[in-house]
Amino acid sequence: MNNTVPEYFGSMVFDDRVMRATLSADVYASLRKTIDEGSRLDISVANAVAQAMKDWAVEHGATHFTHWFQPLTGITAEKHDSFISPSPDGSVIMEFSGKELIKGEPDASSFPSGGLRATFEARGYTAWDPTSYAFIKGRTLCIPTAFCSYGGHALDKKTPLLRSMEVLSKQALRILRLFGNESAKRVVSSVGPEQEYFLIPAEMYEQRPDLKYTGRTLFGAQPPKGQQLDDHYFGVIKPGVAAFMEDLNDELWKLGILAKTEHNEVAPAQHELAPIYTTTNIATDHNQLTMEIMQKVAARHGLVCLLHEKPFAGVNGSGKHNNWSIATDTGVNLLSPGATPYENAQFLLFLCAVIKAVDDYQDLLRLAVATAGNDHRLGANEAPPAVISIFLGDELNAVLEAIDSDTPYEGTKKIKMKLGVDVLPRFNRDTTDRNRTSPFAFTGNKFEFRMLGSSNSIACTNIMLNSAVAESLRIYADRLENAENFEEALHDMIKKTIRDHKRIIFNGNGYDDAWIKEATEERGLLNYRTTADCMPHLLDEKNVKMLTSLGVFSIDELHSRRDIMLENYCKSVDIEAHTMVRMARTQIAPAIESYASELAQAAAAKKAVVPSLKCGYETGLIETLSGLIDEIEIKTDELEAALLKVKDAADIIEESAMVRDLLLPVMDELRAPCDKAEQLTARSYWPYPTYGELLFGVK
Ligand code: ADP
Ligand code: MG
Repeated sequence: MNNTVPEYFGSMVFDDRVMRATLSADVYASLRKTIDEGSRLDISVANAVAQAMKDWAVEHGATHFTHWFQPLTGITAEKHDSFISPSPDGSVIMEFSGKELIKGEPDASSFPSGGLRATFEARGYTAWDPTSYAFIKGRTLCIPTAFCSYGGHALDKKTPLLRSMEVLSKQALRILRLFGNESAKRVVSSVGPEQEYFLIPAEMYEQRPDLKYTGRTLFGAQPPKGQQLDDHYFGVIKPGVAAFMEDLNDELWKLGILAKTEHNEVAPAQHELAPIYTTTNIATDHNQLTMEIMQKVAARHGLVCLLHEKPFAGVNGSGKHNNWSIATDTGVNLLSPGATPYENAQFLLFLCAVIKAVDDYQDLLRLAVATAGNDHRLGANEAPPAVISIFLGDELNAVLEAIDSDTPYEGTKKIKMKLGVDVLPRFNRDTTDRNRTSPFAFTGNKFEFRMLGSSNSIACTNIMLNSAVAESLRIYADRLENAENFEEALHDMIKKTIRDHKRIIFNGNGYDDAWIKEATEERGLLNYRTTADCMPHLLDEKNVKMLTSLGVFSIDELHSRRDIMLENYCKSVDIEAHTMVRMARTQIAPAIESYASELAQAAAAKKAVVPSLKCGYETGLIETLSGLIDEIEIKTDELEAALLKVKDAADIIEESAMVRDLLLPVMDELRAPCDKAEQLTARSYWPYPTYGELLFGVK
């Protein structure tokens, strides 16, 4: 690439610059109105936009278009149609209509719907989301769309996300009006997702059925060197990885994705990429694209990019940090402490709305990140625990305590915190320190939610976060709009929130066992360790009430989502268990057997020469290996029996509990003798690349 970054940044995106250049002033103005204010788009405008989009796409080498959407599989889906249309003379012209732009009807019967789409109405439809720009991938024009059933139920992650952004905007605006802000037209939530991943050599990946079928290693002994020395974090980037990152950045920049920061992570072979934050909806689309492009670019470099949450046992897994804030369309960050007493009161109210939301809906935030993969991280000593708490930092915490107890705040100056009268201290961003163990940390002007798994779509988290905060704001607005004395009511409400929800605030070490005990036993916080534990709570009365009354989900959509997420959990573990059985029986046991037999032959050969030899080494090792093969055989049988038992489950809730209680423990028990055998078997006999080879294989 010879051009400079500003020249090619966004070159594959039908963005505002292109719209302005290719659309007539009228068409541009109506499209802008639709994007900014959500107003309906006229078909004549759609036709004009489609025409311009197609011309631009064809000029950039596109031959096809697709409605690009995010079904509940968690990855993106696309079905390509070419632009060609036959002419009577046998030639073709390239065509694309407004109708094709606005609505698509993919045969969607194979996407999960959780019972929402009866087979007689197998088709769903996709509807253009003009708030996320169209882009070209390969030779295809991709049009971001929402995906619904004919009955109008959302079958994707984008629809509820857009709804949650709407309700948050609506409720936040009510609050802003109370503070005298008449100019803001919308409140927008923004996200900057930090993405972790592993890179390993492709030829090693090819030799591991577990990685290929499940994304993680199901077997593998610990290498002598792992992450003990912490020498990988922010370490010098290897040439092979640097070349990958360079290529990746180019691809992302062409798509208008604001890839910004890249560095090595804690585990060997682990890296991170962070973009500059943007509107939640676009950040979600961009994060999906980023994950896809990471895998594609890796392949070009002879590498495989692993996005699984826990590809290697005993080594840090990969997560995603969801940096979230809300701001007005005029650019005021509502989570930033202001300069005047009035702004500070407003800031504290929004802060309280988040505190209340996180405490009231701990379960929703937990289940938004729940997958079989992420269960391996949460609660292990690397990711935040499965218990949700908020870190505010000492300074802000002291302010809240001062308000709660009506005592002077002992900050830089002694001030009694009377809202609306006193100026809050300016928080030093460095003092909202880097508490890396908190699941939900305030970091100066945004919250960082750290429980997401690396492969999670960030949509689910932000749907729940936006909705829960909207609900707090709705309750606040209802009260404040009817208050006789606004300032007193405001003060009381902030005080009440602090008192009622103090338990969710924790500034200590979240990895400490003592905290989990305190959190669950003294504070009554929830601790759902697995997907099977938390997912059923999506349908708890309080959750259904909040999400349906705000209009983010219908009750049917909630039912379907719970079932799909649990099915996904069960199927993932089922595939893992079957893969283990296959590997243990057809590769691992035979490898150990061959090695033991070679030892036996060696001993016999030696004895033939020197009959008095004891051959203690061979005999002892053969004995140990035979013991391990027997154990492997027993555990493989047990796992197969457990797999059969799970099939008898009456419903998906029972099945997920059986997966948790019957399958996962036996999988660990089967793994143990295999990993032990790996350390005793000659390397040339072992059928798989080892952890050491995988983790240190990239040059
Ligand atoms: P860290 O030390 O955790 O890497 P950074 O300040 O580098 O923190 O930010 C990490 C992510 O947070 C980036 O994606 C960044 O764009 C995003 N971010 C920064 N400010 C905001 C904000 N106001 N709202 C949402 N995300 C933000
Ligand atoms: Mg971070």
